[in-house]
Amino acid sequence: MGIVSAEKFVQAARDNGYAVGGFNTNNLEWTQAILRAAEAKKAPVLIQTSMGAAKYMGGYKLCKQLIETLVEAMGITVPVAIHLDHGHYEDALECIEVGYTSIMFDGSHLPVEENIAKAKEVVEKAHAKGISVEAEVGTIGGEEDGIVGKGELAPIEDAKAMVATGIDFLAAGIGNIHGPYPANWEGLDLDHLKKLTEAVPGFPIVLHGGSGIPDDQIKEAIRLGVAKVNVNTECQIAFANATRQFVRDYDANEADYDAKKLFDPRKFLKPGFDAITVAVEERIDVFGSEGKA
Ligand SMILES: [Zn+2]
Repeated sequence: MGIVSAEKFVQAARDNGYAVGGFNTNNLEWTQAILRAAEAKKAPVLIQTSMGAAKYMGGYKLCKQLIETLVEAMGITVPVAIHLDHGHYEDALECIEVGYTSIMFDGSHLPVEENIAKAKEVVEKAHAKGISVEAEVGTIGGEEDGIVGKGELAPIEDAKAMVATGIDFLAAGIGNIHGPYPANWEGLDLDHLKKLTEAVPGFPIVLHGGSGIPDDQIKEAIRLGVAKVNVNTECQIAFANATRQFVRDYDANEADYDAKKLFDPRKFLKPGFDAITVAVEERIDVFGSEGKA
């Protein structure tokens, strides 16, 4: 099936009680690792770039072309959406122009009226080109914001107003946090999620900060209406841990590894990227999207 917008497969996930993964990428091999896992699991997937990752990689056009070219070169048959994660207004417009197939407009730093007005504009422009749109109400904090214990809860009325703009899926805080979870984190507020899904029945909710939430809480959130789970930190940690282990092994077996030319970056970084594939496959299992392509 290849490159598609995400609204159909995210809604199918919502309607059938599972979730699809939105996996952030950072480079060529990261993208290959995600695609390999999605194809092996026959799972629809969103490959997403943050504004920072896209800048790091060489811009939105490169990211779009990279994902598109890999999907073709790797013979990927599962639906893949090229998604902007947490995009400011200007970045959302640029990605619509460049050919991303899915956009998250994040106006959560704006006053709520402006967030909703801008989301409406993004929806009009994106839908005209068949591109799906995610938007956020409230804010989803991160450890970098100094949040400890409890993440933010999205106001229900704001969620209803945002859904009315015509967006395709909604990111809303239910106590989740970006990045690693602090030791004193109180868990997801599933009661708040229930109120949210009752306010917007059948509408797909996106769970951000999906790395490090206990699997039973993720499964319960999916049962209640989460249809997309974002994963970023988990893959970063999997990559870093496998790479660190490889470096330790290299140090302990230097002559042997040198003789095998394991200093070649294609070999040196392979354990790290293989670990990402394993991590993505595990997440797909937890989300229940295996075999849903
Ligand atoms: Zn996020």
